[in-house]
Amino acid sequence: MKVARTPEELRLLLDPVRREGRRIGMVPTMGALHRGHLSLIEAAARECDLVVVSIFVNPKQFGPSEDFEAYPRDEGRDFELAEGAGADVIYAPSVESMYPDGFATTVEVSGLTEVLCGAPEHRGPDHFKGVTTVVCKLLNAADPDRAYFGLKDAQQVAVIKRMVRDLDMPVEIRAMPTVREPDGLALSSRNAYLDAEERLLAVQLSRSLRAAERALAEGRALGAALDAARAILAEAGIEPEYLEARDPDSLAPASEVGDRPILIALAARVGPARLIDNIVFDPHAPATAQDGLAIQGGSVQ
Ligand code: AMP
Repeated sequence: MKVARTPEELRLLLDPVRREGRRIGMVPTMGALHRGHLSLIEAAARECDLVVVSIFVNPKQFGPSEDFEAYPRDEGRDFELAEGAGADVIYAPSVESMYPDGFATTVEVSGLTEVLCGAPEHRGPDHFKGVTTVVCKLLNAADPDRAYFGLKDAQQVAVIKRMVRDLDMPVEIRAMPTVREPDGLALSSRNAYLDAEERLLAVQLSRSLRAAERALAEGRALGAALDAARAILAEAGIEPEYLEARDPDSLAPASEVGDRPILIALAARVGPARLIDNIVFDPHAPATAQDGLAIQGGSVQ
């Protein structure tokens, strides 16, 4: 496995690969790798000839009161895990090489970034400006055929797909299912902030989404399904930042079950951690095949 620290080093490694017509897959991450990240690397290794994993804790996507400094970092462990899952190249640039003096460009997708996590009363749209700017730079530097993202961050997937479409970026975005702990908690680097008691409480997020999913599968109305989810959160004493039903692509609000899949997205603070989770209900899929909460993680984190 090779490591590149600058866009120039990355290009030197990847140019010959591209010239040989080999297919490049990219997995952007902020490190602190867990089974969710590894599932993306494994998918890229299955589908591509060479896998680049980027590890970069992007200061531009953290608000001033967020956890940029505290965000878990362990490069040695990440390199080992990434290699074990099938990474061929790690791109781990410094903040200075990503954003040198005089850096002045922002990539912004409007609309989609102003709801859910992007609403001003939550993380705000600047969060997604940081995400789209860094993902645009990473995709430009690696020029992959495919890039892999987790549906755990469903809004991020919608925003990145829109950016790639709007800017004619020649990359296929692959959105992969959420990997979960055996009890249903979605794997997240931020789960490391939870103590034992908070960890027990955190499972109520996925439980509430599962209740909504079950209600929809039984043919109940969307409002009733959201109420079922809210009741579980309320019983656990969790006040959600938001619990909303939206179209998974446009993120337009959904008010009833129709022909299209429905994204039910949730954010809530549990102890020191701000956690997000979601399910996508497909009205055409048989009840047993709803993607939502099926995939479980292994032993890493
Ligand atoms: P992050 O390091 O949190 O920026 O995440 C890097 C990528 O891993 C993003 O595309 C995330 O959506 C994805 N990811 C994070 N958690 C999970 C999970 N539990 N299952 C699948 N993918 C995930």
